[in-house]
Amino acid sequence: MRGQLSLRRLGAIGIVALAFSGAAMSQGLSAATHGQRPPGLTGQTAELVEPIKLFDNLYYVGTTFVSAYLLTTSEGLILIDSLHDDFTAGSLEQIESLGFDLDDIHYVLISHGHADHFGGAHMVKQRTGARVAMSEADWAMAERVDRARAQPPERDVVYADGDTLTLGNTTIRFYVTPGHTPGVLSMEFTVYDDGRPHKAFLFGGHNVTLRTGDVAGAVRNLIATVERLQHTLEDVDVNLVSHPWAGLIFQRAEQLAERGPSDPHPFVDARDFRAFLQERLETHQSRLVELQ
Ligand SMILES: [Zn+2]
Repeated sequence: MRGQLSLRRLGAIGIVALAFSGAAMSQGLSAATHGQRPPGLTGQTAELVEPIKLFDNLYYVGTTFVSAYLLTTSEGLILIDSLHDDFTAGSLEQIESLGFDLDDIHYVLISHGHADHFGGAHMVKQRTGARVAMSEADWAMAERVDRARAQPPERDVVYADGDTLTLGNTTIRFYVTPGHTPGVLSMEFTVYDDGRPHKAFLFGGHNVTLRTGDVAGAVRNLIATVERLQHTLEDVDVNLVSHPWAGLIFQRAEQLAERGPSDPHPFVDARDFRAFLQERLETHQSRLVELQ
């Protein structure tokens, strides 16, 4: 059994806050739930969530459907995924409400070239002057998008596998992890819990949807990606994903809000990260068998 997540509506503009039931602490989180989207949740039913401080240097500023993260450094801010349409403006307002200056956002890192992740990047760039970054393959994909659906940003920073970005005291290492899209950009960086460092990995695309043309090819790519991550990543103990349910963001946030002084940080869970990768592997291996 898993804690029921409930969301409390705040006013008319569709911002919701987590409602803490007190039940989540006593109920275990299961890796088997990671890949499964909660019933009824779609891009159309998504709502902006009040910002959640996850670590000393990391905030969740996304929606109930698409993740966005704000990473703070000694030399300014990095936004990971821009959201889209009104969500982008709402997310920027939330960042301001946390006391940050939007002019301090220096980079918008886009996890992959689907419009729900990059659609507002041009707006963030306009408002903040931030550089926008994607992988080569996903820049190309975003540029082919139906412009009635989303405006791709002008091509800016291109990151390849193994590249790093350093801003002040913070370095992000990039992994190009094909599967969900041809050029999913995943990211590894350090987060701090009251000064104690932990290694976070943001998997930029954890599944294959039917939007992909060659589904079997994409599933094969995702399997290869997961196997590579299983063999490459060391010491990752914080699982962040580009969609919140896959990282159990809200369930863990409930636990975080109820955390006692001697309790472990609920987002720090190396074993669960490994279980998540294994579940992704097995799910896609089964899917490939069904497709063949
Ligand atoms: Zn996507």
